[in-house]
Amino acid sequence: MSEPTPVRMKPAGVEPIKVMEECAECMLCQGVCPAFGKVEGYAGPMIFVRMAREGFDERDPIDRLLEAAQAKVLDCVSCFRCEETCPHEIPIRSMAIAALRGTGPTRIYPGAVAPPPPPETWHAPERAQPPRTFWERLTGSAGSPAQWELGMWAWQLHRVTGWLLAIYLFVHLWAVGTARAGEEEFNRLMAYFTHPVFLVGDLLLLGIFVFHALNGVRLILVDSPWRMNTKVLFWVSVAAAVVAMVASAPVFLAAAKGVGG
Ligand code: SF4
Ligand code: SF4
Repeated sequence: MSEPTPVRMKPAGVEPIKVMEECAECMLCQGVCPAFGKVEGYAGPMIFVRMAREGFDERDPIDRLLEAAQAKVLDCVSCFRCEETCPHEIPIRSMAIAALRGTGPTRIYPGAVAPPPPPETWHAPERAQPPRTFWERLTGSAGSPAQWELGMWAWQLHRVTGWLLAIYLFVHLWAVGTARAGEEEFNRLMAYFTHPVFLVGDLLLLGIFVFHALNGVRLILVDSPWRMNTKVLFWVSVAAAVVAMVASAPVFLAAAKGVGG
């Protein structure tokens, strides 16, 4: 039997492997991940770093994309908490997880061999997670807001603004639906909505919409082939929302005065 031909790796191909090998397996990222322990079968950021390390190696025969899919990599909520916590500053979300999702600037080499079946649970029994508090269940986070980093704030704001927009949509549909009760009923309701309190609400809604839309684009760009600075993009979303509200405020104020006068 002939010896397999050694594969000579290009220096550029070695770099991402070296980055992943910085992992000290301290498990800090697992501890702060809101999906780990909540989503059944979710492997967690540290395991994804290990998978990516193997997948960046073109000699790796295992299909790491399939392995990551089995380990629920798509359930990562892109909160970046793992990345912000890692003492070795490993780009867990922006490089390892992005690559395992088949996106991002760094490539996982396709392996021909099917991965072994995933374990029943990725939790080591002796390191079982403590029960989550009500607040942690509600927010899907680990820890209190005082411990949240920017990525977690961005993720929570995205959730809350998403819920507010969904609620608004139902209120809007209900309000439009009152037109079926006749013109008088519809006009009576519309007059109610021109109260200054609702106009301020409309202004806030504009900011919420702009932030949610731009933050959604930010989350798409995270998985783009270009390495984006997610923190800067988050602040751009916030700034755009504030600018939209400030620029529109005179219009809403004029409307409120018109109603008041
Ligand atoms: S980005 Fe958030 S959800 Fe995804 S692995 Fe990291 S901590 Fe977990
Ligand atoms: S926090 Fe960083 S060093 Fe620690 S296990 Fe996670 S990836 Fe590895």
